[in-house]
Amino acid sequence: MAGLTMALELARRDRPCIVVERAPRLEEVGAGLQLSPNALRVLARLGDLNDLKARGTVAETVTLHAARTGRPIASVPVSSADGTPYLSIHRADLQSWLARTAAASSRIDLRLGRDIGVVARDGGDLRVEAISPDGTEILQTTLVIAADGVNSPTAQRLGLEGPAATGALAWRGRVTGGPMPAGGIEAWLGPRRHAVAYPIAGGRETNLVLIEPASGSVDPADLPARFSKWDRRLGAMIAAVGAFTAWPLKAVPGARPWRHLGDRLILIGDAAHAMLPYAAQGAAMAIEDAAVLANHLDRAADLSNALRAYETERRPRIDKVRSRVGFHRFVYHLPFPLSLGRNAVLASRSAASLAGDLAWLYDWRPPKD
Ligand SMILES: Cc1cc2nc3c(=O)[nH]c(=O)nc-3n(C[C@H](O)[C@H](O)[C@H](O)COP(=O)(O)OP(=O)(O)OC[C@H]3O[C@@H](n4cnc5c(N)ncnc54)[C@H](O)[C@@H]3O)c2cc1C
Repeated sequence: MAGLTMALELARRDRPCIVVERAPRLEEVGAGLQLSPNALRVLARLGDLNDLKARGTVAETVTLHAARTGRPIASVPVSSADGTPYLSIHRADLQSWLARTAAASSRIDLRLGRDIGVVARDGGDLRVEAISPDGTEILQTTLVIAADGVNSPTAQRLGLEGPAATGALAWRGRVTGGPMPAGGIEAWLGPRRHAVAYPIAGGRETNLVLIEPASGSVDPADLPARFSKWDRRLGAMIAAVGAFTAWPLKAVPGARPWRHLGDRLILIGDAAHAMLPYAAQGAAMAIEDAAVLANHLDRAADLSNALRAYETERRPRIDKVRSRVGFHRFVYHLPFPLSLGRNAVLASRSAASLAGDLAWLYDWRPPKD
């Protein structure tokens, strides 16, 4: 997400770049993704948003349900006043949209099946190993933008503290043809657990995520029993999932430094700030990062100034999103009877005031050219 978006942001400013990706093919892998308006405003500048919309489903609301009864607690409007949608989509559909848009640019050189190895200073430039089964190629460049995910091998090579276990586990599954969400994004809130369901593949499938403590059984066959007292509609979706995949959730320490090698290497996306997915913002932050970094690279007198200005702008926003994630973690997982108070407070609020809570997040706009 971060790497291809970064390449497209550079290309639209006529800057050439090489994207080195470890995967030999951009395959149809992964699960669903919610894309909020703040991320879609960036993507709308890079390619055909109608084409992306056609691959996903537009959501008007996120509806929160009580875990056991399934009773709706509150419906939070998520579409934006300027008409930018909130989409749910399969990750592979977003990736192929990004890759096809990148393939149309002569400024982007996409090299698949190569692993970034050692990155080192070489005079004023950087010397980068791109390792493939055919051998090691050496690339010379002025700047490395490391967008290599939560387990970033680059961060590891730099000796940075690794991502920490959060104590939570996500089970991801897809339902084809079976029971569907009632509309938009649906979430069920229970003690120490929550579940999220939304349409993907243009509404032909449902993406289901179950979050629970990582200390439980890792056998997916035990899942229906653990959620057996929850809403029957959710139970039917769980039963209809073909195969669940377990994802232990990790987070990058908030203090991880982003700029390295004398401001010639910068970490962006999950490599810089992976967080729990409880606000559905990891990919959105990666996409925002790319737009902001490209803007500073364009405007600043030199790389150091550009990277410093980028970090000054991004840190407060990332920290604010991280705080919101912590708030959701606390509120979503409240035990009974505290959950009754939460439900009463949420139910008493108007749709406009609930939407207002997240205006700072969803109304964000990429920097003007
Ligand atoms: C259960 C769950 C649900 C989520 N839901 C949402 C959601 O609804 N909305 C949202 O915005 N976010 C969501 N996220 C977060 C989102 O998935 C991540 O934040 C996002 O994928 C980060 O993008 P990235 O480009 O930084 O990293 P990644 O998507 O992890 O990409 C890193 C890339 O680097 C490549 N790579 C790694 N090492 C090397 C190397 N040495 N050389 C070359 N290439 C390398 C990898 O192959 C990969 O392609 C969710 C996460 C989870 C776990």
